[in-house]
Amino acid sequence: MKKLLKNIDLLATFGSRGEITGGAVLIEDNVIIKVGKTEEMENIGADEVVDLSGRVVLPGFVNTHHHFYQTLFRNVKEVQSAKLFDWLVHLYDRWKHIEEEAVASSTKVAIYEMMKSGVTTTTDMFYLFPHGKDELFDVEIETAVKTGVRFHPTRGSMSLSRKDGGLPPDEVVEPDERILQENERVVKQYHDPRKYSMLRIALAPCSPFSVTPRLMRDTVELAEKYDVLLHTHLAETQDEEAFCIEKFRKRPVDYMEELGWLNPRVWFAHLVWLNEDDIKKLEEYDVGMAHCPVSNMRLGSGIAPVYEMKGRIRIGLAVDGSASNDTNNMIAEIRTAMLLQRVKYGADALTPREVLHMATVGGARVLRMDDYIGKIEEGYAADIVAFRLDTLEMSGCLDDPLAAIVMCDAKSADFVMINGVTKIKNGEFLDVDLEEIISKQNEISKTILQKL
Ligand SMILES: [Zn+2]
Repeated sequence: MKKLLKNIDLLATFGSRGEITGGAVLIEDNVIIKVGKTEEMENIGADEVVDLSGRVVLPGFVNTHHHFYQTLFRNVKEVQSAKLFDWLVHLYDRWKHIEEEAVASSTKVAIYEMMKSGVTTTTDMFYLFPHGKDELFDVEIETAVKTGVRFHPTRGSMSLSRKDGGLPPDEVVEPDERILQENERVVKQYHDPRKYSMLRIALAPCSPFSVTPRLMRDTVELAEKYDVLLHTHLAETQDEEAFCIEKFRKRPVDYMEELGWLNPRVWFAHLVWLNEDDIKKLEEYDVGMAHCPVSNMRLGSGIAPVYEMKGRIRIGLAVDGSASNDTNNMIAEIRTAMLLQRVKYGADALTPREVLHMATVGGARVLRMDDYIGKIEEGYAADIVAFRLDTLEMSGCLDDPLAAIVMCDAKSADFVMINGVTKIKNGEFLDVDLEEIISKQNEISKTILQKL
């Protein structure tokens, strides 16, 4: 089956062809087979032709950190203005009530809302297994697969409860041994390492203040055995730094080094509180970063030194969990990433093209999928998004249509294709009943919040 996308006002490939005016893309099944100008491809026979005139087209965005279940806990009034540790302690007691239906509902909401803003690949860190309900991770995977998103979830975990000096309550932590067994099970059951894979698994002990050092070390061993990636939160707040110094006598990055977590298969979420020595170490070990500017602003965590790290370590962007964003809008994240660096480092700290590069190629490199996603290029997966240039918000922006997506806030995608399958056309989902999803989500969220 061949599909031709043509008459594209501006095709930004983020690949070897650069930016093409009057562009076209030919797709066979799930793979891009030709990229060029419309006039070169006009007469090629295709089973389906999509006219994308009046649009700018680019590779689908890659979201590198999330907690889907938190879409049920957006905007919780008591912690609208709390910092991370207080926010967590308050919410753990709500989160412990999630079950299968809640996971399925929140997964759909997170993915479709991201898709609407142009995300075609996402990860998720699922680390909540109240009373040992390990099957919740399976529910998340099965639900996500049905949405058609390219998915690289991480099996999260928490093993250090309050009674052992950690932050989470007993009901949501599991023993190290069981976590390791479950990690192994889900990798064997779901991880598909092949090129064009739609589902890969990584392993993700949650954070220095919620897992034991032993679990961190053993997880590295397991990741090496099965050749999968590793993910965790790091250096998010000054409180975390104080916790690490008090409990482990080390700053967060040094603690990770001791545990074998400065490693090319690792990507860290946040990395806000770093000094130059930390950055040098992260660079030397080739680790990746999920930069979450909206969450960092929302919780008052700080400004990550992205300007000092760009070009030195692999950086992707991420909306983070919806209890600390509280949206799943990748366009807003991209725009905020650019603006926030300018607050600290000046007007030329990050350009619109640099942040779009982070959201595409950068994210693909963080998830080690850059051999087949992140670019519009022959041989790459057909993960392609388009934004309209003829909207009210974009009017008067045409001096630079690509940058306009960021500068003028394109808000939502007009066209989204994932692995050759069209998910959104003319701004509408083709196969999703949003009304039903929204009412179910609100019902579950209300029920859980009333459980205290
Ligand atoms: Zn997070």
